[in-house]
This record gives sequence, structure tokens and C-alpha cells, in this order.
Amino acid sequence: MATTPDGLPPLRDVVATHGLAPKKALGQNFLFDLNLTAKIARSAGPLEGFTVFEIGPGPGGLTRALLAQGASRVVAVERDPRCLPILAEIAAHYPGRLEVVEGDALETDLAALANGAPAKIVANLPYNVGTQLLINWLTADVDHPFWTSMTLMFQKEVGQRIVAVPGSNHYGRLGVLAGWIARSEILFDVPPQAFTPPPKVTSSVVQLEPLADRLPCDLARLERVTHAAFGQRRKMLRQSLKPLGGEALLERLGIEPTRRAETLSVAEFCALAQAL
Ligand code: SAM
Repeated sequence: MATTPDGLPPLRDVVATHGLAPKKALGQNFLFDLNLTAKIARSAGPLEGFTVFEIGPGPGGLTRALLAQGASRVVAVERDPRCLPILAEIAAHYPGRLEVVEGDALETDLAALANGAPAKIVANLPYNVGTQLLINWLTADVDHPFWTSMTLMFQKEVGQRIVAVPGSNHYGRLGVLAGWIARSEILFDVPPQAFTPPPKVTSSVVQLEPLADRLPCDLARLERVTHAAFGQRRKMLRQSLKPLGGEALLERLGIEPTRRAETLSVAEFCALAQAL
């Protein structure tokens, strides 16, 4: 059987041998191009000395790239039991460096698994749960993030919402939350044909790093304010924030009540949340 530079069989052969037909319900769009998986792994920066969490390793293309790139410990959380024998072969090839957790990443406490060690998250996320996973990790403990960086593949539109700045169409609750907690950027786009099967839309690899100088703000209150403000994003703030004390609150902070949610900076949202 042919091998690749890491000494393991080509991914297409692995998938064929194990009969791993992609399942749409599990968001399975696999990457077989080793140059691309290596590029994603490299984008995450140095991996030695880190616990690297990978969500949805599937047939293991990115997992192999992370290990080849020198990750000291990869913890891979996979929901599909059909992938486990494939991942066991990779674990045997890199003794002591790959742990596979079978389960739902939405229910998995990565912070507990990191156990205080420096951690990075690198993943080609299942799109149906990608945004919720990101929100879970961002808000796990805003004062002490368990992650040093996150390098994540999303649908491009989700990536745009994460990095969005005030005034852009993509700016909303996700952009405020991510902007309050992290510095984020889109590293590069990935076309549909890079995946098997190809998704309908372009994807983007997004990188997030926690801000050292995050503005003081209470998470629950910030969520209340952004929920109210963006729930009616076309309305003026004096209207959308009415249930929270609207006009008086805005005037107290010197924010023009006729403005709309999408014009407010993260700092202004934090000020509103603190003033509630
Ligand atoms: N990392 C592989 C790659 O790049 O080729 C597969 C990526 S595929 C987009 C998403 C993977 O996430 C699939 O292997 C799927 O089974 C897994 N998955 C889907 N939902 C999951 C969940 N809730 N928890 C853990 N894994 C999940």
C-alpha cells in the first residue's frame, strides 16, 4: 500500500478501507489534501508543549498534520464511532501523543481535560455546531481562558461574523462577544472543492487569541444587551433597549438614542452592560 511522508496510508485509501462514507448529519466534509492540513496546522503556530484539542478528527487528516508538526499531546473529540479504528492506527503510529475521546464536543469540558496545561484548539469544525462550540469555548471562563489560541475552520459567513467590526453587515452578537474576549482574524479561505464531499459554500480558517486587556464587563449582562439590541437591529436603540431602561440608560452614557445596534463599538456595549 502507498504511504505518505508521515508513513501512514493516503487518506483516501484509509477512508475506502474502512468504508467511511461521509454523513451529512454529522457535518462530515473531509480534507484529504495533506498540503492543506499541514497549512492549517502550521497556522496554529508552535505546538510543542501544548495540549492541542481537535474537534471532529474524522479520518484524521488534520490530526496527522498536528502530530507531524510536533504537537506534544493531541486530544481529539469525535462523535462518530466509525472513525475510532482509524484514529487508533494513528495513535499507534505516534505512541503516547494522541488521545481520542469518543463523544459530543458540545458536552465535553475541554478546560477540565486541559487541566491547567497550555492549550490550543485546532479544528475543521462540523458546521452545524461550529458557532455554538466557539461560544462555549469563548465563554468557558472569560477571566481565565483555558486556550492560548483557536485556529478553526468555519463557513466563510460565520468567519465574517466573528471578525466583524461595527458598521459592517456581519457585525452582531457573535462579533461583539468575540471582540470583547479575543483578537481575531481570517487567515485564509478554503474553496468547496477542497473538501470531500464539497460543501455548498466557501470556508475560512479563523484564528482567535485572548485579549490581555479585555474590558471589564459582566458576560450575562453583555448578552442581555446584545440580545435586545440586535434582536431588532433595524430599530433605533431607544426602541430596542426599551425593556432594559432604553433612553435613560443611553443618555446616562452619552450614547445617541437614535443610533442602531450595528454602529456601537464593543466598548460601548460593555459600558451599557455595566450600566444596567
Ligand atoms: N477533521 C476532519 C477533516 O478535516 O477531514 C473531519 C472534519 S468534518 C468537517 C467534522 C467532524 O466532526 C466529523 O468527523 C464529524 O463526525 C465530527 N462531529 C460532528 N459533530 C460532532 C460533535 N458534536 N462532537 C464531536 N465531533 C463531531
